[in-house]
Amino acid sequence: MLGGGAGQTASVQPKIFGPREHGIELDDVSDNAIRVTQTLQKAGFKAFVVGGAVRDLVLGLKPKDFDVATDATPEEIRRLFRRAFIIGRRFQIVHVMFGQDLIEVTTFRGNSTDEAQKDAHGRVLRDNTFGEQHEDAARRDFTINAMYYDPAEQLVLDYHGGMKDIRNNTMRIIGVAEARYREDPVRLLRVVRFAAKLEFKIAPDTRQPMAVMAPLINNVPVARVFDEMLKLLMSGHAMACLQRLRKEGLHHGLLPLLDVVLEQPLGEKFVTLALANTDERIRQGKSVSPGFLFASLLWHQVLEKWEAYRAAGEYPIPALHLAADDVLDGQTEKLALQRRIATDMRDIWAMQPRFERRIGKSPYKLLEHPRMRAGYDFLLLRCASGEIDEEIGQWWTDFMEADGGGRESLLNQKPIENSDSPTTKRRRRSGRNRSKPKAESS
Ligand code: ATP
Ligand code: MG
Repeated sequence: MLGGGAGQTASVQPKIFGPREHGIELDDVSDNAIRVTQTLQKAGFKAFVVGGAVRDLVLGLKPKDFDVATDATPEEIRRLFRRAFIIGRRFQIVHVMFGQDLIEVTTFRGNSTDEAQKDAHGRVLRDNTFGEQHEDAARRDFTINAMYYDPAEQLVLDYHGGMKDIRNNTMRIIGVAEARYREDPVRLLRVVRFAAKLEFKIAPDTRQPMAVMAPLINNVPVARVFDEMLKLLMSGHAMACLQRLRKEGLHHGLLPLLDVVLEQPLGEKFVTLALANTDERIRQGKSVSPGFLFASLLWHQVLEKWEAYRAAGEYPIPALHLAADDVLDGQTEKLALQRRIATDMRDIWAMQPRFERRIGKSPYKLLEHPRMRAGYDFLLLRCASGEIDEEIGQWWTDFMEADGGGRESLLNQKPIENSDSPTTKRRRRSGRNRSKPKAESS
């Protein structure tokens, strides 16, 4: 019964929509995805574009990527294409490559969650049976993600009323919500991400158990939660997603990062600006580095600890490093921050006091820092949030744009002393004690 929720309500016969009803223009479908479905169909298999791509096409949005579902087995798929690779051990999928473009091809999955191996909380651990198309549809998460598009016939096959839900701007989980969240708690984060991104409401039955089920996310491997968080933060709608997480009661005690981000009044302006900035960049198709993003989200926690270490008598620079260590240690445990991201974050933070030294060779050295651009963008965020004086950001903008002579005269300008500045504020060291400060709040 558990998880069979999906199976029980599964429609075996789909509703079929023609071009005038679904409105998908063949021109908007990736040529490579069409190539893949054609090749499979010519070989006698069923093949459809599926999932997020169909949803986005019906909505008139540009899909991020195209996935194909078929009744061919991974081995049968692989043999049909010149550059195709079977990926994954648990449930094999096939990557079909066309230059840089990748089409992910999966075999219809069976609806066998009743027998699937689960953890103590009901989370499905292993589940790798192939099945019928209607079973594959029932295994998907939301009705709007369970539609299949056949480019040859230009038909959409809709097993769970996805088309109707799209028209009503509604996120609806397939099957019994509680059972589906239990099988895979990451769906809780997915519902929020799609609802925020598409500006959809969440159907009452889909929404009702969310807050109660939230703690189940703690049982999901951290790397997977991290991936989903990153998708959420890089969706171009990060701010809306975080607000929605809060609204659904999913932010509390769920991820340490979110607690920090959503419950710190001091850093709110900074985080809001950083996320607005990120959303804007993504919408413009520019790159965003996860390191910069996480460095922003956690900056005010670093500031707080930095202050505490200095209050305990530590020198500013070592105090900053100690603060960075504390914050990163706290996050890596639960958030599985990859080492490369953590290194980027530390670099960006460590650069900050160096922007305050506007004398001698220091600014020139900083210009050569490989992460200078990120550090400077970060500095501008600090200025814009009111944490430090706008003047310092302006000085650096001028310095970077100036020629040799211009730079010298900027250096000769006496920088305005900022009495609150951590590096100019010289404290007397009260001792060589490097132990953690008592005042620290965690
Ligand atoms: P995006 O635009 O973010 O890529 P998407 O819907 O394509 O959205 P993917 O993570 O790429 O999301 O997944 C592709 C499809 O696989 C989904 O549309 C859905 O049908 C199915 N799927 C993904 N994750 C899950 C899950 N946790 N449980 C059930 N089905 C899922
Ligand atoms: Mg996708």
